[in-house]
Amino acid sequence: MNKESLMDEIIERIAVCTRCGLCQNRTQTVPGEGSLGAKIFFVGEAPGREEDLSGRPFVGAAGKLFTTILKAVDIAREEVYIGNIIKCRPPENRTPTMEEMKACAPFLLAQLQVVQPRLIVTLGASSLSFFLSGREIKITEMRGKYQQWEGGIPIFPMFHPSYLLRNASKAPGSPKALTWSDIQEVRRVYEQSE
Ligand code: SF4
Repeated sequence: MNKESLMDEIIERIAVCTRCGLCQNRTQTVPGEGSLGAKIFFVGEAPGREEDLSGRPFVGAAGKLFTTILKAVDIAREEVYIGNIIKCRPPENRTPTMEEMKACAPFLLAQLQVVQPRLIVTLGASSLSFFLSGREIKITEMRGKYQQWEGGIPIFPMFHPSYLLRNASKAPGSPKALTWSDIQEVRRVYEQSE
């Protein structure tokens, strides 16, 4: 089977999944999207309202900021893969439980196997914690520092764009300024892999 067929099959399985309670309130699933040959795979936490309505990841206010950040370093959304650990919107955008993440994780792991990126960029604390076996982490301390994952693909943690929306300052040391430095590193890996 080629990559397209494998990913289509995963997306079809996600669309009918009832493995956890989050299936009950979804408008539709949000499997992820992007290039199946992507060298960079971005992983957020879970879909929000806009994503639930559209079926696409990172399209709300935080998603628009994320797209702007990519554009600032000349990376188009279509050239990377963008997804979440959780494929259905949690009620009121609450943080997904570890049980929900474990229930949904096989889909993400299957997607990673199809895409086989050179780098996984986690967006926010939940996503990073998932790859580090549920470890409690402080994203403010760990962003921008490479992490080892048992799956063998390097992990590079960044802030979630929704955190940047709540912290608008661009002063040196601010989340936005640190994100600017982090995305340069992502760009460096992206260039290497071209
Ligand atoms: S969140 Fe994941 S595991 Fe839960 S129902 Fe949706 S697709 Fe299935």
